[in-house]
Amino acid sequence: MNRISWNQYFMAQSHLLALRSTCTRLTVGATIVREQRIIAGGYNGSIKGGTHCIDEGCYVIDNHCVRTIHAEMNAILQCAKFGAATEGASLYVTHFPCLQCTKAIIQAGISKIYYASDYKNHPYAIELLRQAGVETECVPFDPASIEQLMTPAEQSGTN
Ligand SMILES: [Zn+2]
Ligand SMILES: [Zn+2]
Repeated sequence: MNRISWNQYFMAQSHLLALRSTCTRLTVGATIVREQRIIAGGYNGSIKGGTHCIDEGCYVIDNHCVRTIHAEMNAILQCAKFGAATEGASLYVTHFPCLQCTKAIIQAGISKIYYASDYKNHPYAIELLRQAGVETECVPFDPASIEQLMTPAEQSGTN
């Protein structure tokens, strides 16, 4: 029996979370994992109870939507809100983190970032991660890896 790898499993979770994003500019999902357990997740969205970009459009300043909190930040803040330690945790994220999120990730003690896609990878973010000793690894997400496993055995190979 084939099993999904942990990396693909957590990356799938982040891609599912990205489907909850309320900002149309970029749908991002992030999952924080400690000892193979998901301790928090977040997506790119407005503050609780706030206006959603998908309803009223983005609030753009200097070519950035300022309405939303990024997925990585939301996941870290969920840990703060509910009291889960992030020291030594890993982060699975759909896109390479921006500079602001990178700083928060480092400061939260997260020790490894798995990202599915490069996204405007900021040279200073890369430098800060290197200085802090935070590992980064590109884990491309392949939806087919799940679809294959979810196909009932009796149906596979019939078409
Ligand atoms: Zn927006
Ligand atoms: Zn960010």
